[in-house]
Amino acid sequence: MHALEVEQLTKTYQGGFRALKGIDLTVAEGDFFALLGPNGAGKSTFIGILASLVNKTAGRVRVFGDDLDREPERVKSAIGLVPQEFNFNLFLPVEEVVLNQAGYYGIARREAKVRARRYLKQLDLWDRRDSEMRKLSGGMKRRLMIARALVHEPRLLILDEPTAGVDIEIRRSMWAFLRELNAGGTTIILTTHYLEEAESLCRNIAIINEGEVAESTSIVRLLDRL
Ligand code: ADP
Ligand code: ADP
Repeated sequence: MHALEVEQLTKTYQGGFRALKGIDLTVAEGDFFALLGPNGAGKSTFIGILASLVNKTAGRVRVFGDDLDREPERVKSAIGLVPQEFNFNLFLPVEEVVLNQAGYYGIARREAKVRARRYLKQLDLWDRRDSEMRKLSGGMKRRLMIARALVHEPRLLILDEPTAGVDIEIRRSMWAFLRELNAGGTTIILTTHYLEEAESLCRNIAIINEGEVAESTSIVRLLDRL
């Protein structure tokens, strides 16, 4: 079973800019996959489409066999997104950020509380559960966004530049957390412009440039050639 199958995906923004020009990509279930590419390559557009935040122009997307056009709700519940920006709900306490997200997925309050506690503990944020989000450091906010993305227990976690601007210690602990999550069976796709991050975490990689897949290969094969 594939976690993700994308065929001839295109996106033309209003105004005519072609951000994606026919992306073909498959990601196996259980994979840890990196989308590597420079700023402006189309990475955020690509994951925005997967997460139903951006409408595609053409092409086909299937997530665990479900077609994005035909089964949008199933696709939404299969995916957790960790966005790059988090400028919403800044006055909300940490625990409420996670509980609100659970509410959005229709998870009952009691179960939501259990899960919020579990994921906030795993991400070392439980002691900060009553802090307003705006009081958190950058690294803590990112960890909170991971807890929030996991609350509906998605099979596919997508992270947009998860460690950009995060110091090395926090980066390492986030990497360890993601490795463990992947070992437990969650498929992970992340975007990055650090080859080092892809190399350290991922098994397979697609290099995106100017809205096209320049290369799709395993990390081992890519490193062999460098
Ligand atoms: P990346 O995440 O790889 O940096 P993006 O997907 O954010 O790339 O952007 C790809 C290209 O699409 C960029 O040139 C960007 O300026 C353009 N773009 C992104 N969002 C919009 C938008 N809403 N309208 C027009 N152009 C956009
Ligand atoms: P940064 O934003 O610099 O990447 P962090 O957000 O992880 O890093 O940490 C910023 C500060 O908050 C550090 O001094 C760290 O010791 C402290 N800190 C990190 N995690 C917690 C926590 N769970 N509870 C209290 N303080 C923490």
